[in-house]
Amino acid sequence: MRRVLVKGAGVAGLTVAHELAARGASVTVAEIRSQIGGNASWLAGGMLAPWCERESAEETVVSLGRISTDWWERVLPGLVTTAGTLVIAHVRDAFELARFAARTRNHESVDDEAIAALEPDLAGRFRKGLFFAGEAHLDPRRVLEALADKLRAMGVVFLFEVDEVDLSGFDQVIDCTGIARADDDLRGVRGEMLILHTREVSLTRPVRLLHPRHPIYVVPRADHHFMVGATMIESDHDGPITSRSLMELLNAAYALHPAFGEAEIVETGVGVRPAYPDNLPRVKRRKDGAITINGLYRHGFLLSPAMAEQAAGLLFNSSADLESENEADRQWRSA
Ligand SMILES: Cc1cc2nc3c(=O)[nH]c(=O)nc-3n(C[C@H](O)[C@H](O)[C@H](O)COP(=O)(O)OP(=O)(O)OC[C@H]3O[C@@H](n4cnc5c(N)ncnc54)[C@H](O)[C@@H]3O)c2cc1C
Repeated sequence: MRRVLVKGAGVAGLTVAHELAARGASVTVAEIRSQIGGNASWLAGGMLAPWCERESAEETVVSLGRISTDWWERVLPGLVTTAGTLVIAHVRDAFELARFAARTRNHESVDDEAIAALEPDLAGRFRKGLFFAGEAHLDPRRVLEALADKLRAMGVVFLFEVDEVDLSGFDQVIDCTGIARADDDLRGVRGEMLILHTREVSLTRPVRLLHPRHPIYVVPRADHHFMVGATMIESDHDGPITSRSLMELLNAAYALHPAFGEAEIVETGVGVRPAYPDNLPRVKRRKDGAITINGLYRHGFLLSPAMAEQAAGLLFNSSADLESENEADRQWRSA
């Protein structure tokens, strides 16, 4: 049995830990923090939106991201909502909608009636939009905690508050330390976000409000909580949100629905997205033999299933290994 050490308990580390444990490996996850959370993955919106992301991303993001909804649904049944994405703009920004439509596919145009049918609370506020019916979303925090619980049940060992681990007990190291990984090519892209709470607004799906300078998205969470995101700033500074960003995000949320003006600000947060120069993720083998999974940029939940499968493929390629594939997963299901 292969003994694998996964460094980092973000979405990259936990997804690859799952793929390896499901293939019969003995997996240990070492995390420098004291618990699951607080990292870039914890701060994410949780959108699984390959076709919307194509607006600013390479086609590779679409092809790698397509499997993600099925992967999350298979691994953690019931935690993914497939209700699509609604993209809208105010009349004065209609050109932004045309530009977005031209750069993406798998959408249908929606008018004010269709927008009201999809999201009754937005009735009368927007005349045109785009609906991406095939997209999905999840709550990153629920998912990370549920995945860690599942991994423990599959026999994965977690070590918290550890930086260096004695490697003599392991055959393979997989480094998933995100922006902390000193990789010459890696840069940080700071993302600031808010969580608002108001009972005056209900949304079923992520809504993206286009704007020439301050596009935002609002992702609904449980009990009338809303994640509002996110800035994209070329910096690996993870200090608190700036007042400018806070004002811009709040203004944009208010422009989406005035009831957000009365919402409680439950949380502000800052995550640093790890990115390679082309903004595409990589599974790499280092000179010391360790495998790295990194550069997930703004697509950690969307692309980590594909990256985890690639990394597992590097380790498990014999037929004997494939026979034991998913045995641990099956045991978890029948438990
Ligand atoms: C505001 C915001 C919104 C986003 N929205 C989305 C979205 O809607 N959809 C989507 O798919 N993606 C989204 N993303 C992107 C996504 O969050 C990132 O791509 C993803 O979190 C990167 O995951 P990771 O596991 O590589 O890094 P991280 O989540 O940062 O995890 C790395 C882990 O390694 C640990 N670590 C560091 N050094 C060590 C060490 N020496 N030993 C052990 N552990 C160590 C860290 O403590 C951390 O827990 C968003 C990001 C941000 C910031």
